[in-house]
Amino acid sequence: MKWEFLREEEFEGAIERSGGLCVMTLGCLEKHGQHLPVGTDSLKGDRIVELAAERADVVMFPTTMWLGDVSSAHIFENPSKTKKHGFIGMNPQTMLNVLEELCDEIARNGFTKILICASHGGNSSLLGLFTRSQLYKKRDYIVMSCKAYDFADQLDPKNVLEAAKKDPEYFSMLTEEDLKTLERFAQTGTGGGHADFKETALLYGTHPDLVAPDRFDAESGISTNRLTFPPQYGISTYASWIANVPNVFSGYAPIGCTPTIGEAYLKLSVDRLAEIFTYLKNNDDCVDVIREIKETQ
Ligand SMILES: [Zn+2]
Repeated sequence: MKWEFLREEEFEGAIERSGGLCVMTLGCLEKHGQHLPVGTDSLKGDRIVELAAERADVVMFPTTMWLGDVSSAHIFENPSKTKKHGFIGMNPQTMLNVLEELCDEIARNGFTKILICASHGGNSSLLGLFTRSQLYKKRDYIVMSCKAYDFADQLDPKNVLEAAKKDPEYFSMLTEEDLKTLERFAQTGTGGGHADFKETALLYGTHPDLVAPDRFDAESGISTNRLTFPPQYGISTYASWIANVPNVFSGYAPIGCTPTIGEAYLKLSVDRLAEIFTYLKNNDDCVDVIREIKETQ
């Protein structure tokens, strides 16, 4: 059920059918190499969440394509001279405020559970902070987050290949050539995590016409290693991303990726996400706990 398609008088029934759950995608607008569009994260997440919401019969809030944690570093001049066309970044405090007011509004409409599906790496950190900060004030509803795809590395080529060997019927769309491609990436890994093989496959699944295979190797996705720390120290800083991934493409050129691999990646993602939605729509423990916390505050 898409929020924007409902008439006012239909909301009460929709909320009941949805078990009080409202789901939404949080993507972003930023460069994804030269082979994928800047809307990649919002577009693929929007479609996956929409299909899963239809399957689980839950309400989906409209995707706000431009709302996402694209570091402010992208909108200013930075040492790596990252190209800035198509990026939309904003003050992180603004994003937290918008999310806060948006969730309050969704809850005011009668929903008790809000699940935000992160379809962009940077949003996972933002949502970690946002969901924690929810306990700062008393409320009657719970905000939760999960990824929009790739649950427990489900989409790693080696895991897809293993699953395809166990259940060829589920993966009947894959050609012999596709299996060879997956085998190749299973051996090397995808090499990154941004505009890489997985993301390319997912966009092939959701928006095949927007993938430009002739641009797969137009730019390098290999890290420059400009700013690295000894791995045993576990130091992390976003500056490493800015310095090491100047093309905003982190991965091996996804050569061999096809629309049929995309179909498989989409199917895996929608099936798992629909399972998650169904689980949460039938789970009222989460709301009970948030109300108990409220009483003790
Ligand atoms: Zn992405």
